[in-house]
Amino acid sequence: MATRFENGIVVTLEEKNRVLWNATVVTDGKRIAGVGEASKMRQRFPDAEAVDCSGKVILPGFICTHHHFYSTMARGMSIPGEPASNFVEILERLWWKVDRALEEEDIVLSAQLPLIDCIRNGTTMVIDHHASPGMREGSLDLIEKAVRQAGIRASLCYEVSDRNIAGGGLAENQRFIEKVGKGDGEIAAMMGMHASFTLSDATIEKCVGIAQQAGVGCHIHVAEDAADREDSLTKYKIPTVSRLQRLGVTGRNSIFVHCVHIDEAEMDILASTGTSVVHNPESNMNNAVGVTPLLTLLKKGVLVGLGTDGMGSDMLAQMRCAYLLHRLANRDPRVAFMEAPQLLLQNNATIAERQFGLRIGQIAEGLPADLAIIDYQPPTPLSEANFLGHLIFGLVDATVDTTVCKGEILMRGKQMLSMDEARIAARSRELAPKMWKRLQEL
Ligand SMILES: [Zn+2]
Repeated sequence: MATRFENGIVVTLEEKNRVLWNATVVTDGKRIAGVGEASKMRQRFPDAEAVDCSGKVILPGFICTHHHFYSTMARGMSIPGEPASNFVEILERLWWKVDRALEEEDIVLSAQLPLIDCIRNGTTMVIDHHASPGMREGSLDLIEKAVRQAGIRASLCYEVSDRNIAGGGLAENQRFIEKVGKGDGEIAAMMGMHASFTLSDATIEKCVGIAQQAGVGCHIHVAEDAADREDSLTKYKIPTVSRLQRLGVTGRNSIFVHCVHIDEAEMDILASTGTSVVHNPESNMNNAVGVTPLLTLLKKGVLVGLGTDGMGSDMLAQMRCAYLLHRLANRDPRVAFMEAPQLLLQNNATIAERQFGLRIGQIAEGLPADLAIIDYQPPTPLSEANFLGHLIFGLVDATVDTTVCKGEILMRGKQMLSMDEARIAARSRELAPKMWKRLQEL
């Protein structure tokens, strides 16, 4: 069934971006069948169902290249004792207890709620990093089911770490990678790894072996805090990225998350191996770990994308955070205006293409029908020439009205169609206090 999303302002984000007023995007099945002037599209597709998009901007669906669905139930939880004073304490007191306390239904709800949040924010593709040592086997299947029900696209992995059981999580990753294979454009798989400082050489070698055999990349946190760099320098006499390169983790399909504490030689390794970096500015600020050297990474030709690290699912907010952070950190009001949108709009699409084998992030005939349709009445002229100004200072605060993925309308007129948000949130409120209680006993 074809649908005409008509009379909107279409921003195509093709290599040469076009801003088309009073324009229409036609979807037919999972693909875009036409883009152009509203009257022409009505003539070409007279039988398509019409969805009026006047007063709205139609953009490609947003992409998040690093998320942690499992963090959902930590919201509002109090942690007894002194507040964590550094990054390692945050992991030990909070996240390494949250993941252990999760039971089967918690995992499902913890995925469903951020998936709803993704749809609310026009995010139609996510690369997630999951951990639940208390219920490991089959956990990725539960999340896959939630993703398919929600109707968006996701790449999933399980976080392998030596902190609980040596090699813990390897079997779940291997099982899921073998099951998903190259993926179907809706679900993909990666080899998930926690971080250099929680992984022995032997475990990393096993992870890399499985990933290489299946032709998938590794998804690992890298030098998020200075502690990761110091651990590598102390134990292995080389910095984190060099260690991971030596063990075969780098490469075009791999994602190195954060890269806050790396030196220029490590950046050169990332560039020469084509390894992607994902920047998570809100998370870095929240954990007070430091500032990723974004501008230098980009200058060296490293592909840097943008994620939320579980802080939320609103990619426009994350983009503006990157914009503000790097202006302040560099004390230079000339920077980040081009770079922050580039991470979200271009680089995330390239990273997603490597995982899914699909070109998404553009509105053009024949491409996947993933759309974010946003309430926005531009107060000044809007064109290709000044689109980024409208993105950073206007669209970022506007409300997503309609979200489309694979041609399916997942939210229309701000009404969630694919998920029962009230029921899911109510059940999560019932189970979260029980999870908090189990966590206190760990
Ligand atoms: Zn993370």
